[in-house]
Amino acid sequence: MPANQNLVQKICTRCGEIKDVSAFKRLLTLRQSSALLKRPTTRRLTVISSRCRTCWSDTKRKTPLTLKDIQNKKASGDLHTIVADLMEQELRRAIPERRARVMKEYWQKKKREPIIESLAQQVALYKKRYLATKRKKNPDHALLRQHSEEYELAKRFRKELMAQINLNNIPKQTAIPLLIIEHNERTATHD
Ligand SMILES: [Zn+2]
Repeated sequence: MPANQNLVQKICTRCGEIKDVSAFKRLLTLRQSSALLKRPTTRRLTVISSRCRTCWSDTKRKTPLTLKDIQNKKASGDLHTIVADLMEQELRRAIPERRARVMKEYWQKKKREPIIESLAQQVALYKKRYLATKRKKNPDHALLRQHSEEYELAKRFRKELMAQINLNNIPKQTAIPLLIIEHNERTATHD
């Protein structure tokens, strides 16, 4: 296109910066080139992208290729057969390890969930009670202060407990020492 040839600078549609047109050149993969030409090709095309190279690399995937990705790249010719086979071998070798790690993390998380949920519920109760007192037209100041302090205390307890949980010092469902409010009082604030 003659208009494009004369163009030396271009504005990026993502970051809005004006850059030299060379910063927008993008080498397509074989698959993308074939898609653009609507026919198989062994030559990779270069296009002028609407985004600059910096923005483009920002949006590029950062996760490692999956088995399927490797097989697709091998089929399209974007990965050399030998390279693709080596990558596939390496990935297959690592799969059991990764699966074991994922399972371990899953169970660790599962074990912690009841405590975390319970902590959140309890803190929510203190918050609810404090806000209910605060919203009253003429709140009892002593009571407001007490509820406020207890809410802060509950938050602090939760934070400390969460830190302990995260350090794995609390292994599994432990009794939660966070009950400042007596049961009766708590049910009374519920209505
Ligand atoms: Zn940009």
